[in-house]
Amino acid sequence: MKNIVLYGAPGAGKGTQAALLAEKFNLMHLSTGEMLRAEVAQGTSLGQRVKGIMERGDLVGDDIVLSLIDKALTANLAGEPRDEWDEHRRQRAIENGQNVAERKVPSIIFDGFPRTVQQAQMLEFVFSRRQMRLDAVISIDVNRDELIRRIHERAAISNRADDNDDATIRHRLEEYEEKTHPVLEYYKVSGLLVSIDGGGEISETNTRLCSLMEHLLRDE
Ligand code: AMP
Repeated sequence: MKNIVLYGAPGAGKGTQAALLAEKFNLMHLSTGEMLRAEVAQGTSLGQRVKGIMERGDLVGDDIVLSLIDKALTANLAGEPRDEWDEHRRQRAIENGQNVAERKVPSIIFDGFPRTVQQAQMLEFVFSRRQMRLDAVISIDVNRDELIRRIHERAAISNRADDNDDATIRHRLEEYEEKTHPVLEYYKVSGLLVSIDGGGEISETNTRLCSLMEHLLRDE
């Protein structure tokens, strides 16, 4: 089992690329943004607490994000299905007489987390409690003009409240510079950081990521 963080600014393509990698390499895709949007959509008490924060483009509190990560890690280690598709595959395996209890714990790709140095430190703590460790942090590098262009492009199709207003987009990029960018330095020091150019087409970035992932997952 490998644990990999996909790092990048808003609009860098983390979500798109993480979903493609999860599909190709059968990884567990943990997106804190998606988890939080699901809480908001379901109107849970947590969702109600974070709705306004997300709409403003602020970061949600570290403790809230960590509790979501902690829950997902527990489910992953317990072998619970990640989604309907995973459950479907599990049922097929049972029908084919495979011992599903022995299935391998999937490797994890983190998308949009950690977003503060404190979250990175908290991740180390939750990992160490489970005898897990982080294997790599892959940064998708994209320049600021291209980030803004992509967020506008996504706004036209995504219906995300935080993509639809110029001031909010600017604020999310400021939050990124101030709070998330120091995470890069943190991982650079630990020797886990690999950077790739993410300024081109989705397929170009994906090709780069796939060859990196093949290397990382080789001795899984
Ligand atoms: P994303 O989908 O990753 O762009 O996240 C959308 C929004 O969810 C962010 O602007 C934050 O408000 C919130 N969010 C997602 N992940 C985190 C995180 N790791 N820490 C704090 N807030 C987060």
